Amino acid sequence: MRSADATINKHKRELELCTYCPKLCRHSCPVSNATGRETHTPQAKMQLLNHLQQGSVEWTRETARPLFACLECKNCTTYCDHGNDVAGALAAGKAAASERGLQPIEYTQAVRDYRLRETRLRNALQRTAAASEMATRGRIAYLPGCDNIEFFPETISDAFSIFRRLDLRFVRMPSGITCGGHPLWAAGAWSAAHVETERLLEHLSGFSTLVMGCAPCTDLWRRRLEEHGISHQLDVIHTSEFFFTHLERLKPRSVRRAALFHDSCSLGRGLGVYDPPRRVASRCVEHLGEFFHHRDRSPCCGADPALDAAMPEVRAKQRTERLGEASRYGIDTVVTTCARCRRSLSRSAAGDQRNTVDLVDLTNLLAEALHTENR
Ligand code: SF4
Ligand code: SF4
Repeated sequence: MRSADATINKHKRELELCTYCPKLCRHSCPVSNATGRETHTPQAKMQLLNHLQQGSVEWTRETARPLFACLECKNCTTYCDHGNDVAGALAAGKAAASERGLQPIEYTQAVRDYRLRETRLRNALQRTAAASEMATRGRIAYLPGCDNIEFFPETISDAFSIFRRLDLRFVRMPSGITCGGHPLWAAGAWSAAHVETERLLEHLSGFSTLVMGCAPCTDLWRRRLEEHGISHQLDVIHTSEFFFTHLERLKPRSVRRAALFHDSCSLGRGLGVYDPPRRVASRCVEHLGEFFHHRDRSPCCGADPALDAAMPEVRAKQRTERLGEASRYGIDTVVTTCARCRRSLSRSAAGDQRNTVDLVDLTNLLAEALHTENR
Protein backbone atom coordinates (compact mmCIF):
# COMPACT_ATOMS: atom_id res chain seq x y z
CA MET A 1 0.00 0.00 0.00
CA ARG A 2 1.26 3.47 -0.88
CA SER A 3 1.63 5.57 2.29
CA ALA A 4 -0.21 8.86 2.72
CA ASP A 5 3.06 10.84 2.86
CA ALA A 6 4.29 9.21 -0.38
CA THR A 7 0.97 10.12 -2.04
CA ILE A 8 1.29 13.74 -0.89
CA ASN A 9 4.76 13.85 -2.47
CA LYS A 10 3.21 12.74 -5.76
CA HIS A 11 1.20 15.98 -5.63
CA LYS A 12 4.25 18.16 -4.92
CA ARG A 13 3.98 20.23 -8.11
CA GLU A 14 0.23 20.76 -7.62
CA LEU A 15 0.83 21.88 -4.03
CA GLU A 16 3.38 24.43 -5.28
CA LEU A 17 1.07 25.70 -8.03
CA CYS A 18 -1.80 26.16 -5.57
CA THR A 19 0.40 27.83 -2.95
CA TYR A 20 1.19 30.71 -5.32
CA CYS A 21 -2.21 30.89 -7.07
CA PRO A 22 -4.50 33.95 -6.65
CA LYS A 23 -7.38 31.55 -5.76
CA LEU A 24 -8.88 31.30 -9.24
CA CYS A 25 -11.16 28.42 -8.22
CA ARG A 26 -12.31 29.88 -4.90
CA HIS A 27 -15.95 30.27 -6.00
CA SER A 28 -16.22 26.55 -6.78
CA CYS A 29 -15.72 25.03 -3.32
CA PRO A 30 -18.96 24.05 -1.56
CA VAL A 31 -17.21 24.00 1.81
CA SER A 32 -15.72 27.52 1.78
CA ASN A 33 -18.90 28.84 0.14
CA ALA A 34 -20.95 27.49 3.06
CA THR A 35 -18.60 28.36 5.92
CA GLY A 36 -17.36 31.67 4.45
CA ARG A 37 -13.93 30.88 5.86
CA GLU A 38 -10.81 31.75 3.93
CA THR A 39 -8.98 28.76 5.41
CA HIS A 40 -11.48 26.45 3.67
CA THR A 41 -10.78 27.63 0.10
CA PRO A 42 -9.02 25.04 -2.08
CA GLN A 43 -5.94 27.29 -2.33
CA ALA A 44 -5.63 27.74 1.44
CA LYS A 45 -6.03 24.01 2.11
CA MET A 46 -3.41 23.12 -0.50
CA GLN A 47 -1.02 25.80 0.82
CA LEU A 48 -1.49 24.43 4.34
CA LEU A 49 -0.75 20.87 3.20
CA ASN A 50 2.36 22.13 1.38
CA HIS A 51 3.64 23.81 4.56
CA LEU A 52 2.81 20.79 6.73
CA GLN A 53 4.64 18.51 4.35
CA GLN A 54 7.66 20.80 4.14
CA GLY A 55 7.77 21.07 7.94
CA SER A 56 7.29 24.86 8.06
CA VAL A 57 4.00 24.25 9.92
CA GLU A 58 3.88 21.65 12.69
CA TRP A 59 1.34 18.78 12.42
CA THR A 60 -1.16 19.21 15.28
CA ARG A 61 -4.87 18.41 15.57
CA GLU A 62 -5.63 22.12 15.19
CA THR A 63 -3.33 22.88 12.25
CA ALA A 64 -4.46 19.76 10.35
CA ARG A 65 -8.19 20.38 10.81
CA PRO A 66 -8.79 22.43 7.59
CA LEU A 67 -7.52 19.48 5.53
CA PHE A 68 -10.70 17.67 6.54
CA ALA A 69 -12.88 20.49 5.16
CA CYS A 70 -13.01 18.83 1.75
CA LEU A 71 -15.75 16.70 0.18
CA GLU A 72 -13.34 15.39 -2.49
CA CYS A 73 -15.89 16.64 -5.02
CA LYS A 74 -13.27 17.76 -7.61
CA ASN A 75 -15.26 20.86 -8.58
CA CYS A 76 -12.18 23.06 -8.09
CA THR A 77 -10.31 20.92 -10.64
CA THR A 78 -12.89 21.81 -13.29
CA TYR A 79 -12.04 25.49 -12.87
CA CYS A 80 -8.27 25.06 -12.53
CA ASP A 81 -6.18 25.87 -15.63
CA HIS A 82 -3.64 23.27 -14.44
CA GLY A 83 -6.29 20.63 -13.72
CA ASN A 84 -4.84 20.26 -10.23
CA ASP A 85 -6.10 17.21 -8.35
CA VAL A 86 -6.93 19.00 -5.10
CA ALA A 87 -9.27 16.22 -3.95
CA GLY A 88 -6.54 13.59 -4.34
CA ALA A 89 -3.95 15.70 -2.51
CA LEU A 90 -6.30 16.57 0.36
CA ALA A 91 -7.46 12.94 0.66
CA ALA A 92 -3.81 12.04 1.21
CA GLY A 93 -3.51 14.97 3.65
CA LYS A 94 -6.45 13.62 5.68
CA ALA A 95 -4.88 10.17 5.72
CA ALA A 96 -1.49 11.60 6.77
CA ALA A 97 -3.15 13.45 9.66
CA SER A 98 -5.07 10.28 10.63
CA GLU A 99 -1.87 8.21 10.56
CA ARG A 100 -0.49 10.72 13.10
CA GLY A 101 -3.67 10.33 15.21
CA LEU A 102 -4.71 13.92 14.48
CA GLN A 103 -8.10 13.38 12.82
CA PRO A 104 -11.16 15.30 14.14
CA ILE A 105 -13.48 13.36 16.42
CA GLU A 106 -16.18 13.17 13.70
CA TYR A 107 -13.79 11.17 11.51
CA THR A 108 -12.93 8.75 14.33
CA GLN A 109 -16.67 8.32 14.80
CA ALA A 110 -17.20 7.67 11.06
CA VAL A 111 -14.72 4.76 11.20
CA ARG A 112 -16.41 3.40 14.33
CA ASP A 113 -19.84 3.71 12.66
CA TYR A 114 -18.62 1.73 9.66
CA ARG A 115 -17.98 -1.24 11.95
CA LEU A 116 -21.14 -0.82 14.01
CA ARG A 117 -23.54 -0.64 11.10
CA GLU A 118 -22.38 -3.94 9.57
CA THR A 119 -24.94 -5.97 11.58
CA ARG A 120 -27.64 -3.41 10.86
CA LEU A 121 -26.93 -3.61 7.11
CA ARG A 122 -26.86 -7.42 7.08
CA ASN A 123 -30.26 -7.52 8.81
CA ALA A 124 -31.69 -4.94 6.41
CA LEU A 125 -30.38 -6.91 3.43
CA GLN A 126 -31.93 -10.13 4.74
CA ARG A 127 -35.30 -8.38 4.97
CA THR A 128 -35.00 -7.01 1.41
CA ALA A 129 -33.34 -9.74 -0.61
CA ALA A 130 -34.40 -13.30 -1.29
CA ALA A 131 -31.82 -15.95 -0.37
CA SER A 132 -31.73 -16.99 -4.04
CA GLU A 133 -30.47 -13.51 -4.96
CA MET A 134 -27.25 -14.02 -2.98
CA ALA A 135 -24.29 -16.22 -3.84
CA THR A 136 -20.55 -16.66 -3.33
CA ARG A 137 -19.81 -16.95 -7.06
CA GLY A 138 -21.33 -16.21 -10.45
CA ARG A 139 -20.84 -14.18 -13.60
CA ILE A 140 -22.15 -10.85 -12.35
CA ALA A 141 -22.07 -9.51 -8.80
CA TYR A 142 -24.55 -6.74 -8.01
CA LEU A 143 -23.49 -4.56 -5.08
CA PRO A 144 -26.29 -2.07 -4.36
CA GLY A 145 -24.27 -0.08 -1.80
CA CYS A 146 -24.83 0.59 1.87
CA ASP A 147 -27.11 3.62 1.45
CA ASN A 148 -29.47 1.70 -0.84
CA ILE A 149 -29.55 -1.23 1.59
CA GLU A 150 -30.28 0.95 4.60
CA PHE A 151 -32.42 3.77 3.21
CA PHE A 152 -33.70 2.82 -0.27
CA PRO A 153 -34.27 -0.97 -0.32
CA GLU A 154 -36.84 -0.56 -3.12
CA THR A 155 -33.89 0.22 -5.42
CA ILE A 156 -32.62 -3.35 -4.89
CA SER A 157 -36.03 -4.87 -5.74
CA ASP A 158 -36.25 -2.58 -8.77
CA ALA A 159 -32.77 -3.59 -9.96
CA PHE A 160 -33.67 -7.28 -9.75
CA SER A 161 -36.96 -6.66 -11.58
CA ILE A 162 -34.89 -5.15 -14.44
CA PHE A 163 -32.38 -8.05 -14.37
CA ARG A 164 -35.32 -10.49 -14.62
CA ARG A 165 -36.82 -8.47 -17.46
CA LEU A 166 -33.49 -8.93 -19.26
CA ASP A 167 -33.56 -12.62 -18.40
CA LEU A 168 -30.24 -12.20 -16.55
CA ARG A 169 -30.93 -14.83 -13.93
CA PHE A 170 -27.26 -15.23 -13.05
CA VAL A 171 -26.89 -11.81 -11.36
CA ARG A 172 -26.31 -12.27 -7.65
CA MET A 173 -25.45 -10.15 -4.63
CA PRO A 174 -22.14 -11.37 -3.20
CA SER A 175 -22.58 -12.94 0.24
CA GLY A 176 -20.78 -11.22 3.09
CA ILE A 177 -20.65 -7.75 1.51
CA THR A 178 -22.88 -4.81 2.35
CA CYS A 179 -20.59 -1.90 1.48
CA GLY A 180 -17.76 -1.37 -1.00
CA GLY A 181 -15.63 0.38 1.63
CA HIS A 182 -15.68 3.95 0.32
CA PRO A 183 -16.67 5.46 3.71
CA LEU A 184 -13.40 4.19 5.25
CA TRP A 185 -11.25 5.67 2.47
CA ALA A 186 -13.21 8.96 2.65
CA ALA A 187 -12.64 9.16 6.40
CA GLY A 188 -8.87 9.04 5.82
CA ALA A 189 -8.53 5.65 7.53
CA TRP A 190 -6.40 4.18 4.77
CA SER A 191 -4.91 1.28 6.75
CA ALA A 192 -8.34 0.06 7.89
CA ALA A 193 -9.70 0.63 4.37
CA HIS A 194 -6.89 -1.42 2.87
CA VAL A 195 -7.60 -4.37 5.19
CA GLU A 196 -11.33 -4.12 4.48
CA THR A 197 -10.73 -4.02 0.70
CA GLU A 198 -8.65 -7.21 0.89
CA ARG A 199 -11.54 -8.87 2.75
CA LEU A 200 -14.03 -7.69 0.11
CA LEU A 201 -11.77 -8.98 -2.67
CA GLU A 202 -11.87 -12.45 -1.12
CA HIS A 203 -15.69 -12.37 -1.13
CA LEU A 204 -15.66 -11.21 -4.76
CA SER A 205 -13.14 -13.75 -6.00
CA GLY A 206 -15.88 -15.96 -7.51
CA PHE A 207 -17.21 -13.18 -9.78
CA SER A 208 -15.91 -11.58 -12.97
CA THR A 209 -18.10 -8.46 -13.29
CA LEU A 210 -19.12 -6.07 -10.55
CA VAL A 211 -22.24 -3.95 -11.14
CA MET A 212 -22.42 -1.24 -8.49
CA GLY A 213 -25.35 0.90 -7.39
CA CYS A 214 -23.11 3.32 -5.50
CA ALA A 215 -21.30 6.00 -7.52
CA PRO A 216 -18.43 6.70 -5.04
CA CYS A 217 -17.71 2.95 -4.78
CA THR A 218 -17.75 2.60 -8.58
CA ASP A 219 -15.11 5.35 -8.83
CA LEU A 220 -13.14 3.71 -6.02
CA TRP A 221 -13.17 0.21 -7.51
CA ARG A 222 -12.67 1.21 -11.15
CA ARG A 223 -10.01 3.89 -10.72
CA ARG A 224 -8.82 4.75 -7.26
CA LEU A 225 -7.88 1.38 -5.77
CA GLU A 226 -5.13 1.12 -8.35
CA GLU A 227 -3.77 4.48 -7.19
CA HIS A 228 -3.57 2.92 -3.73
CA GLY A 229 -1.57 0.00 -5.10
CA ILE A 230 -4.48 -2.49 -4.97
CA SER A 231 -5.12 -4.44 -8.17
CA HIS A 232 -7.99 -6.75 -9.13
CA GLN A 233 -9.39 -8.37 -12.28
CA LEU A 234 -13.01 -7.33 -11.85
CA ASP A 235 -14.80 -5.51 -14.62
CA VAL A 236 -16.46 -2.64 -12.69
CA ILE A 237 -19.57 -0.94 -14.06
CA HIS A 238 -22.22 1.33 -12.56
CA THR A 239 -25.89 0.30 -12.79
CA SER A 240 -26.65 3.28 -15.05
CA GLU A 241 -24.00 2.14 -17.55
CA PHE A 242 -25.20 -1.45 -17.29
CA PHE A 243 -28.82 -0.52 -18.02
CA PHE A 244 -27.70 1.77 -20.85
CA THR A 245 -25.99 -1.15 -22.62
CA HIS A 246 -29.32 -3.04 -22.49
CA LEU A 247 -31.55 -0.06 -23.28
CA GLU A 248 -32.71 -1.23 -26.70
CA ARG A 249 -33.84 -4.55 -25.27
CA LEU A 250 -35.63 -2.88 -22.39
CA LYS A 251 -37.54 -0.29 -24.45
CA PRO A 252 -38.88 1.83 -21.56
CA ARG A 253 -41.67 4.35 -22.09
CA SER A 254 -42.00 7.86 -20.65
CA VAL A 255 -43.83 7.78 -17.35
CA ARG A 256 -43.17 11.29 -16.06
CA ARG A 257 -43.65 14.65 -17.72
CA ALA A 258 -40.36 16.34 -16.84
CA ALA A 259 -37.29 15.83 -14.66
CA LEU A 260 -33.86 17.33 -14.04
CA PHE A 261 -30.73 15.21 -13.95
CA HIS A 262 -28.29 15.59 -11.04
CA ASP A 263 -24.73 14.38 -11.75
CA SER A 264 -22.89 12.69 -8.92
CA CYS A 265 -19.30 13.93 -8.46
CA SER A 266 -17.90 10.39 -8.55
CA LEU A 267 -19.62 9.23 -11.71
CA GLY A 268 -19.25 12.60 -13.47
CA ARG A 269 -15.98 14.32 -12.62
CA GLY A 270 -14.52 11.08 -11.25
CA LEU A 271 -15.21 8.73 -14.16
CA GLY A 272 -16.48 11.04 -16.92
CA VAL A 273 -19.79 9.13 -17.15
CA TYR A 274 -22.30 11.79 -18.22
CA ASP A 275 -24.23 10.50 -21.23
CA PRO A 276 -25.28 6.89 -20.45
CA PRO A 277 -27.49 7.79 -17.45
CA ARG A 278 -29.00 10.73 -19.37
CA ARG A 279 -29.79 8.46 -22.33
CA VAL A 280 -31.63 6.03 -20.02
CA ALA A 281 -33.48 8.78 -18.12
CA SER A 282 -34.51 10.56 -21.32
CA ARG A 283 -36.38 7.40 -22.38
CA CYS A 284 -38.35 7.41 -19.11
CA VAL A 285 -39.51 11.07 -19.03
CA GLU A 286 -40.99 13.27 -21.73
CA HIS A 287 -38.53 16.08 -21.10
CA LEU A 288 -35.20 15.60 -19.33
CA GLY A 289 -33.77 19.01 -18.46
CA GLU A 290 -30.51 20.26 -16.97
CA PHE A 291 -29.66 22.32 -13.92
CA PHE A 292 -27.83 25.56 -14.74
CA HIS A 293 -24.62 23.91 -13.48
CA HIS A 294 -24.44 20.39 -14.83
CA ARG A 295 -22.04 17.72 -16.08
CA ASP A 296 -18.49 18.68 -14.96
CA ARG A 297 -19.81 21.87 -13.29
CA SER A 298 -22.47 20.12 -11.27
CA PRO A 299 -22.21 21.06 -7.58
CA CYS A 300 -21.62 18.38 -4.95
CA CYS A 301 -24.68 17.34 -2.93
CA GLY A 302 -22.56 17.68 0.23
CA ALA A 303 -22.75 13.99 1.14
CA ASP A 304 -20.01 13.01 3.55
CA PRO A 305 -21.19 11.69 6.90
CA ALA A 306 -18.13 12.87 8.83
CA LEU A 307 -18.07 16.33 7.27
CA ASP A 308 -21.84 16.58 7.73
CA ALA A 309 -21.39 15.92 11.44
CA ALA A 310 -18.59 18.51 11.68
CA MET A 311 -20.10 21.19 9.40
CA PRO A 312 -23.83 20.56 8.79
CA GLU A 313 -24.18 23.94 7.08
CA VAL A 314 -22.37 22.61 3.99
CA ARG A 315 -24.92 19.93 3.10
CA ALA A 316 -27.83 22.18 4.11
CA LYS A 317 -26.65 24.87 1.68
CA GLN A 318 -26.11 22.43 -1.19
CA ARG A 319 -29.54 20.88 -0.64
CA THR A 320 -31.34 24.21 -0.42
CA GLU A 321 -29.71 25.53 -3.60
CA ARG A 322 -30.15 22.36 -5.67
CA LEU A 323 -33.77 21.72 -4.75
CA GLY A 324 -34.56 25.45 -4.80
CA GLU A 325 -33.42 25.59 -8.42
CA ALA A 326 -35.65 22.64 -9.37
CA SER A 327 -38.63 24.30 -7.63
CA ARG A 328 -38.00 27.61 -9.44
CA TYR A 329 -38.20 25.78 -12.76
CA GLY A 330 -41.46 24.13 -11.63
CA ILE A 331 -39.90 20.65 -11.84
CA ASP A 332 -40.93 18.09 -9.23
CA THR A 333 -38.64 15.17 -10.16
CA VAL A 334 -34.86 15.03 -9.84
CA VAL A 335 -33.08 11.92 -11.09
CA THR A 336 -29.77 10.83 -9.54
CA THR A 337 -27.48 7.85 -10.00
CA CYS A 338 -26.18 7.82 -6.45
CA ALA A 339 -27.96 6.77 -3.26
CA ARG A 340 -25.71 9.07 -1.26
CA CYS A 341 -26.77 12.10 -3.35
CA ARG A 342 -30.38 11.02 -3.00
CA ARG A 343 -30.13 10.71 0.76
CA SER A 344 -28.12 13.88 1.16
CA LEU A 345 -30.48 16.01 -0.92
CA SER A 346 -33.62 14.53 0.63
CA ARG A 347 -32.65 14.89 4.30
CA SER A 348 -33.83 18.23 5.63
CA ALA A 349 -31.87 20.22 8.20
CA ALA A 350 -32.91 22.80 10.76
CA GLY A 351 -34.09 25.93 8.97
CA ASP A 352 -33.98 24.18 5.62
CA GLN A 353 -36.86 24.49 3.17
CA ARG A 354 -39.50 21.78 2.92
CA ASN A 355 -38.73 19.21 0.30
CA THR A 356 -41.40 19.11 -2.39
CA VAL A 357 -39.14 17.54 -5.02
CA ASP A 358 -39.26 13.79 -5.65
CA LEU A 359 -35.67 12.49 -5.73
CA VAL A 360 -35.46 9.20 -7.56
CA ASP A 361 -32.63 6.91 -8.48
CA LEU A 362 -32.33 6.12 -12.17
CA THR A 363 -32.96 2.43 -11.29
CA ASN A 364 -36.32 3.37 -9.71
CA LEU A 365 -37.28 5.50 -12.69
CA LEU A 366 -36.38 2.80 -15.20
CA ALA A 367 -38.28 0.12 -13.25
CA GLU A 368 -41.27 2.46 -13.07
CA ALA A 369 -41.12 3.01 -16.85
CA LEU A 370 -40.92 -0.75 -17.53
CA HIS A 371 -43.62 -1.60 -15.00
CA THR A 372 -46.02 0.99 -16.43
CA GLU A 373 -45.41 -0.35 -19.92
CA ASN A 374 -46.34 -3.82 -18.71
CA ARG A 375 -49.77 -2.86 -17.45
S1 SF4 B 1 -6.68 24.25 -7.90
FE1 SF4 B 1 -5.85 25.57 -9.55
S2 SF4 B 1 -7.17 27.41 -9.49
FE2 SF4 B 1 -7.45 26.32 -7.52
S3 SF4 B 1 -5.96 27.24 -6.11
FE3 SF4 B 1 -4.98 25.46 -7.03
S4 SF4 B 1 -3.86 26.28 -8.82
FE4 SF4 B 1 -5.37 27.81 -8.20
S1 SF4 C 1 -12.47 18.95 -3.98
FE1 SF4 C 1 -14.44 20.04 -3.66
S2 SF4 C 1 -14.61 20.30 -1.43
FE2 SF4 C 1 -12.45 19.77 -1.88
S3 SF4 C 1 -11.40 21.73 -2.07
FE3 SF4 C 1 -12.05 21.15 -4.16
S4 SF4 C 1 -14.07 22.13 -4.44
FE4 SF4 C 1 -13.60 22.15 -2.22
